[in-house]
Amino acid sequence: MEKISILIPCYNEEKALPLFYDELIKNIKKFPQNVEFEILFINDGSKDNTLNIIKELKNKNNQIQYISFSRNFGKEAAIFAGLENATGDYITLMDADLQDPPSLLLEMYNYVSKENYDAVGTRRVNRKGEPVVRSFFSKLFYKLINKMTSFEMVDGARDFVFMKRNVLEAIISLKEYNRYSKGLFSFVGFNVKWIEYKNIPRVAGKTKWSFWKLTKYALEGITAFSTAPLILSSIIGLFFCVVSFLLIIAIIFKTLILGDPTSGWPSLVCIIFMVSGIQLFSLGIIGQYLSKTYLEVKQRPIYIVKEKSIK
Ligand code: UDP
Ligand code: MG
Repeated sequence: MEKISILIPCYNEEKALPLFYDELIKNIKKFPQNVEFEILFINDGSKDNTLNIIKELKNKNNQIQYISFSRNFGKEAAIFAGLENATGDYITLMDADLQDPPSLLLEMYNYVSKENYDAVGTRRVNRKGEPVVRSFFSKLFYKLINKMTSFEMVDGARDFVFMKRNVLEAIISLKEYNRYSKGLFSFVGFNVKWIEYKNIPRVAGKTKWSFWKLTKYALEGITAFSTAPLILSSIIGLFFCVVSFLLIIAIIFKTLILGDPTSGWPSLVCIIFMVSGIQLFSLGIIGQYLSKTYLEVKQRPIYIVKEKSIK
């Protein structure tokens, strides 16, 4: 027998869950007889009826297990809890809103069980149904982060991955508090098959990602995997030192030759504004890393469980 653990982080998914469940069951019936399933829902502190729906589903189907958090800890924490508790030989992560089609599961399983792959990743090839501004910024984000890191972050990669147990173990051995799963998945390496599909809008309910939340998430990704911004502030600092040194020399010569008619007040103000702006910007970058270090050093748990159906 082989076991596949399906991990589903859920936050206020009462509308999407029943639809997701039906679709999932339809697709796992297509698997060979020697494959069993563990369907593990991680309720990330939902404020609606999500937990009760999960419990009802569990009464119908004994493949289902759940973990319920004491409050909302975020999708990354839910993913981590799922990975820590999964018992399968293969593990997959899915959103509850059917944006990650269960119909791909069999194909993914075949890649890792029959071919020489350790994991299958998915990426969406278009961003249809997404606001244009959002697409623009996420493209920009991938360009930036790939310049700054030594491994490749795949543009449009989703959290929908299918992996062997050894990949899971590598990922949970990274115990960091500020978790950025897409980065962690790229970071651990292994032999990954990427499959592509078109963006599918969410079946029901609302997205939990505002523009502001996404921006914070992008910064998280950058600070978690690269220290390049720290170097950037040093480079800018050095650049301004050199420029001001050249300007000082130029001014000395100018004064010697032309005298000193007291002009240049507006340009002085502009320079002060710009330079102090850059100083604050650099301080901000340093602050970002310092705050991340602060959070890591505290070693708080990534999530707190209120109740769960597994040991
Ligand atoms: N999610 C979660 N905790 C959160 C936010 C989201 O567990 O704090 C789950 C959510 O229930 C869904 C998945 O993460 O299953 C993806 O969320 P969403 O569809 O809102 O994100 P999007 O697909 O719009 O990026
Ligand atoms: Mg979604």
